[in-house]
Amino acid sequence: MYHRDTAEALAKKSQMDQSFRDSVATIDKKGSRNYISPKKPKGSLYNKRTIASILYLILFFGLPFIKIKGEPIFMINILKRKFILFGQIFGPEDFFIFMLGMLTFVVFVILFTVVFGRVFCGWACPQTIFMEMVFRKIEYWLDGDHIRQRQLREMPWNAYKIRKRAVKIIVFWLMSFLIAHFFMAYLISMDEVKRYMTEGIDQHFGTFVALSIFTTVFFFVYYWFREQVCIVVCPYGRLQGVLLDKNSIVVAYDYVRGEPRGKARKTEQTHGDCVDCAACVRVCPTGIDIRNGTQLECVNCTACIDACDEIMTAVNRPTGLIRFASEANVVKGEKPRLNARIVGYSFVLLSLAGALAFMLASRDDVDVTILRTSGTVFRELPDGRIANVYNARLANKTREDIPITLQLEGIRGEIEVAGGSIVVEKEGYKTATFIIRVEPAEIRQRRTPIRIGVYEKGINIKNVNVTFMGPMR
Ligand code: SF4
Ligand code: SF4
Repeated sequence: MYHRDTAEALAKKSQMDQSFRDSVATIDKKGSRNYISPKKPKGSLYNKRTIASILYLILFFGLPFIKIKGEPIFMINILKRKFILFGQIFGPEDFFIFMLGMLTFVVFVILFTVVFGRVFCGWACPQTIFMEMVFRKIEYWLDGDHIRQRQLREMPWNAYKIRKRAVKIIVFWLMSFLIAHFFMAYLISMDEVKRYMTEGIDQHFGTFVALSIFTTVFFFVYYWFREQVCIVVCPYGRLQGVLLDKNSIVVAYDYVRGEPRGKARKTEQTHGDCVDCAACVRVCPTGIDIRNGTQLECVNCTACIDACDEIMTAVNRPTGLIRFASEANVVKGEKPRLNARIVGYSFVLLSLAGALAFMLASRDDVDVTILRTSGTVFRELPDGRIANVYNARLANKTREDIPITLQLEGIRGEIEVAGGSIVVEKEGYKTATFIIRVEPAEIRQRRTPIRIGVYEKGINIKNVNVTFMGPMR
């Protein structure tokens, strides 16, 4: 157990070298890209990450093959405006559910980040999983560990380097090609991708173009752009400054324990526990030194924790010099605790999740919108009844055709549908025009609110309120 004194901790922090703020790890002194070749990580957390990423990859490559009633379990077909989530079909008319779902997701991410920092990035983000657990592993296999990679990069072009680079480009391109196909399957379904593959490019030129673009983008990202996605492009990393507080759990260097850093000695220990070996820096995929504190480049991959634990074990000191910890934990040894922000976000998240669950549970199979036909006025019929014309728009969210009948509720009159009947095809839309004729005794004012019952196979599935126009009496 280490003695933690707030004043002493802050004094140690203020004495730490701040020159890291003058440069970015991925840009060298000449302003060129500094390619990061991290040492291959190893350790218990890396093993756990490997298992987590295998499960993730099984899900990513397996889900497009799973179908419910002949439809994919997940599909986000923007062009056809058809979305399937967990087998449920959503259309443009469900946009508000989609927006609420997005809002709930954003609040969840915020809450998760406030409490657990950026752990999502290192352990669940597709970019990091594919970069660190797929392409980086392939790179270690093809080019060797970090030192051999650097030697290869710095050597002049010769037959060996050309062969190495050519093999890497081909393998990375093929992997990108494969991922692009599965990515495409989430957009248009695996059946469509298979059809494209068997029927050829000429019949599916649009799909071919999309696949080529996706393949090129993935190749560019994983071969060249790499950690820049997290540092420069991803907005989430930039939000850390406002989302994290002193109680957020992040990958943190325990400077109270570690400083002042200095080489290990066989006799007495004259420094803190950090032996300044830079093992934590060598494994970092974004090239930063976590001893400088939480930085937006840190994707919480935990490779530095494994690296430091190995060193601590070797020099016979307790592990956990770099660990998951909050600033409050490092400074005062405090355990994570609830604060007003966490309670507030939790309340908002629970409210949104409740509203979303209610909307999903009460979601109808058929969406109905009824409006009086614009530009029409009421008509007084020869038999004395009053007639209005309406348009209905119906959306069928199921995988079966649905016959629909309309009926007036609580008012004497009749509905006559143009064409006789309404059948909404599966996953389709239908517009119908109909006339409502009402007994004159029911109409006492210019605008009378009336209710139309919508029936599926004789069962009332919903009621729609509309306005019926009539003469003033
Ligand atoms: S500082 Fe550590 S946790 Fe953060 S990205 Fe680098 S190796 Fe991963
Ligand atoms: S790996 Fe641990 S001991 Fe080595 S420099 Fe990093 S923090 Fe210090």
